[in-house]
Amino acid sequence: MWRNSDVLVIGGGVSGTMAAIAAARKGVKVTLVERGGCLGGTWTAGLVGMTLDSGDKEGLLKEFLTIVYHEKEQGTATIFEIQKYVLEKLCTESGVEMMFHSQVCDVKTDGHQIKEVRVITKSGHIDFHAKVIIDATGDGDVAAMSGCSYDYGRPSDGKAQPMSMIALVSGLDERANTYISFPDNPFWDARNRLKGVLDAVGAPYSIGCPSIQPLCGEIYILSANQEYGKRGCNVNELTEATMNARREIYRLVGALRNGAPDVFGNLMLVSTPECIGVREGRRIHGRYTITVEDMIVGRRHEDAVCLVRYWVDIHSLENDGGKGFTDDGIKMQPYDIPFRALLPKDIDNLVLAGRCISGDFYAHASYRVAGNMAPVGEAAGTMAAEAVMKGKKICEVEYQR
Ligand SMILES: Cc1cc2nc3c(=O)[nH]c(=O)nc-3n(C[C@H](O)[C@H](O)[C@H](O)COP(=O)(O)OP(=O)(O)OC[C@H]3O[C@@H](n4cnc5c(N)ncnc54)[C@H](O)[C@@H]3O)c2cc1C
Repeated sequence: MWRNSDVLVIGGGVSGTMAAIAAARKGVKVTLVERGGCLGGTWTAGLVGMTLDSGDKEGLLKEFLTIVYHEKEQGTATIFEIQKYVLEKLCTESGVEMMFHSQVCDVKTDGHQIKEVRVITKSGHIDFHAKVIIDATGDGDVAAMSGCSYDYGRPSDGKAQPMSMIALVSGLDERANTYISFPDNPFWDARNRLKGVLDAVGAPYSIGCPSIQPLCGEIYILSANQEYGKRGCNVNELTEATMNARREIYRLVGALRNGAPDVFGNLMLVSTPECIGVREGRRIHGRYTITVEDMIVGRRHEDAVCLVRYWVDIHSLENDGGKGFTDDGIKMQPYDIPFRALLPKDIDNLVLAGRCISGDFYAHASYRVAGNMAPVGEAAGTMAAEAVMKGKKICEVEYQR
């Protein structure tokens, strides 16, 4: 079976979904292919929820956050469920053709062009022919299948930031307050107390500094897991990390409940996500690569997609027993993501959206958060639609902010 689409978006994380909505609003035919059963990727399915570096962002992200804020006031759902609901609503309203439970498994190229994208679905495989393809898989799967060159991990040793599984817990009352990272609790005090109790009950934990944070009502977020040295784009390591993480969380909740019953006697694990959160995957080589020097000087560009203000947030590459993250001493200034970083240098009808854009290890540690990945997706979708409407290659369309 085969199908046509003007713009084919692969991956329905924050970036891919924004790309699909932006392109569809321009009036072109857009298909969004997502291997899971919801939109938002790590942001929703990975239980992240928070949108860092969203402060000065306009456009689709601002529109989205305004609707989410209004929905939150109704008190009907957790942030993740609201995000999923609003993303699906915006996709439906803008006419995006949705395909859940569908994963890209192969790509056919001819020179610098992708000719066909094979998607394996619940009803068999479909070969897509599209004018522009957007790789929003997070890990740059489509670009890698097309033969694009890329980097992975820290230049000195090739290690990437750890994956992490976040969990939802309940059964905490005021006796646990000093262990919970409430917004008005001194940040490190609550974390260090929790660390102390885990040490006291003899429960080893993989993260440098575990935390429990309030989510809403009776539900809290437990952040206690890091999976070091495993690659999110390797199926065996991804599976191992997922199972390790879930086992660790289950064990830690049990240890707190049984070892410190006066405070945590009613603690209960409510849910772990279906997928572990992957921080870092392939960084595809683009027509521009954002570097640590760009961050240090605060480089600005004519083709700026958005301004990044978020710091260099490197989660420890091994358990150092400390804070769990570092900026490696890099003092950054706000810098632009240029549109050229979304254009792979090897393929002409492919655009990158999300954390797989072209940047070095340190730049990625800063721009990867949702407040930047949303405008990156919006720019990718908008320019993809422009290219379709003008009948040009995407690299030939003049970028307009
Ligand atoms: C543990 C953790 C905590 C974080 N905390 C925060 C935070 O508090 N605030 C913040 O702003 N950011 C946070 N981040 C970073 C942020 O969540 C991510 O960088 C961002 O959401 C990445 O978005 P994305 O769209 O690029 O990729 P992803 O969210 O990874 O989305 C990729 C999507 O593509 C789909 N997909 C992948 N491969 C295929 C395929 N072959 N075919 C079809 N579909 C495919 C996936 O199912 C997924 O839905 C955190 C990240 C992690 C891991």
